Amino acid sequence: MILLSGIVASTLFLEDRSLLITTLLILTLLYVIALTVGVTTIKWNYFMNSINRVGEGKICFTFDDGPVENTRDVLAVLNKHEVKATFFLIGKNCKENQNILKEIMAEGHIIGNHSFSHENSIGWSSTSKVIEEIEQTNQIIKEVSGIQPQFYRPPFGITNPKIARAIAKTKMISVGWTIRTFDTVVKDAEKLIAKVKPRLNKKGHIILMHDSCPQTVVALDQLIINCKEKGIKIVNLDDIAQTN
Ligand SMILES: [Zn+2]
Repeated sequence: MILLSGIVASTLFLEDRSLLITTLLILTLLYVIALTVGVTTIKWNYFMNSINRVGEGKICFTFDDGPVENTRDVLAVLNKHEVKATFFLIGKNCKENQNILKEIMAEGHIIGNHSFSHENSIGWSSTSKVIEEIEQTNQIIKEVSGIQPQFYRPPFGITNPKIARAIAKTKMISVGWTIRTFDTVVKDAEKLIAKVKPRLNKKGHIILMHDSCPQTVVALDQLIINCKEKGIKIVNLDDIAQTN
């Protein structure tokens, strides 16, 4: 009897322990998932605060990865519709395409910082490396355009404590988005338009597009028209700073 009680007790103990281990594993897994989503989902503001929305009834177009030759076509569409946008520029592209950087500025758009090299390994970079890339890019933008960028968009929208520290140290304002168009992936303009159009509403979206993609030029024209048809006011980031 005593032996049986001992076996039952130890089984219960084992069961409890396996339950405990299972619970701990599930919690660890959930934590890792939350952490991964937090790192890759800038609008969660998990590690730092970013501007991810504009005011109700408004929308803001943002373009990453320029300046490149294709930027000129994006500028032409924006000019045609008298719309102002924000361009998050890569430092090394600014060095190579200084005239295009000047054109963006001359058209009255906002110039933001999008790192110097846009390396895939940004998530593993040290705080000092992120700071160095921000400062290098600010410097080349300042030299070419005379503008001191205020806004920063982390490459791939990746955030972590090191990137958060770098942004705080350089006193940049981080900008995310609520609509990711995936225009670098969807190469067909019509498909891109069909994918993004239904998401355009008055909830204050910031849209992420890339001025490096030819299909973006065609899609942008139609998306601006669609916003105007829906009565959504197209604003830029300086409007956000004033009204939010
Ligand atoms: Zn980018």
